[in-house]
Amino acid sequence: MSKKVIVITGAGGVLCSTLAKALASSGHKVALLDLKKDAAEQIAQVISKDGGTAIGIEANVLQKESLQKAREIVHKALGKCDILINGAGGNHPLGTTSNPFFDNDDLKNTTEGFKTFFDLDAEGIQFTFNLNFIGTLLPTQVFAEDMIGKEGCSILNISSMNAFTPLTKIPAYSGAKAAVSNFTQWLAVHFSKVGIRVNALAPGFFLTEQNRTLLTESNGDLTPRGNTIIGQTPMGRFGEPEDLVGTTLWLCGTGASFVTGVVVPVDGGFSAFSGV
Ligand code: NAD
Repeated sequence: MSKKVIVITGAGGVLCSTLAKALASSGHKVALLDLKKDAAEQIAQVISKDGGTAIGIEANVLQKESLQKAREIVHKALGKCDILINGAGGNHPLGTTSNPFFDNDDLKNTTEGFKTFFDLDAEGIQFTFNLNFIGTLLPTQVFAEDMIGKEGCSILNISSMNAFTPLTKIPAYSGAKAAVSNFTQWLAVHFSKVGIRVNALAPGFFLTEQNRTLLTESNGDLTPRGNTIIGQTPMGRFGEPEDLVGTTLWLCGTGASFVTGVVVPVDGGFSAFSGV
């Protein structure tokens, strides 16, 4: 694809920092937005040292004003946005149950921190819905405006496996990512007449700071949940952030010129496998 200005939210994180580096090494100008200014700036510096063009900007995907300020900085430093990657997202412990299945004895369990469905906290659930859904909507409102009247623009959202079928224990994150997939289709239709394509990645399981303690023990062995995931992943491993690069370049580039409204699993076969 021709050289673009690419804005990536959550770019200080594990997956999107890898995408930022890969896109910059393909010659694109990359704006890394993150709540964590230091993380965004540090990745931008690494990219610049390697000869790429990048800028790290503090921005909160839940505050339109913060995003508008970030857009001004992007305009001055790099120009108008051609491609937006909505990468900021995540879960909250208060929207998570302790066990995958409800048991009659659970109501008698007084262990500190033990959470059944009945203990789920509306604020934790709201946090997760806001971060994933509103955190995709607001940056799209702010940066898609740059794309109006231009050619070759697109938006890439980050959904998840649990948008197809919810994972146990994380109803809020599952519902929020289902909303992101649904919104991807809505936006694709809405912007179809002005040539802005909108697609999503649905990453399978990637070992990151968010899920490391859920999937691995302190000695590096897999937890029972980690083992279940690997057992359900036909390719038999977790994804590496680099596994997302090819699909990202394809969806954002001219090779996908007639592709809009799709959610592409990058999951080692997880979503194709019935388990039998
Ligand atoms: P990560 O925690 O490493 O990165 C997320 C980044 O988002 C962090 O740098 C964080 O500071 C930033 N962020 C959080 N709240 C923000 C806000 N309000 N405004 C701006 N930035 C904010 O996570 P990751 O694993 O790299 O995940 C990236 C995306 O991929 C997320 O949307 C996540 O839900 C999704 N995802 C991850 C996996 C996985 O296995 N890791 C699987 C499927 C989907």
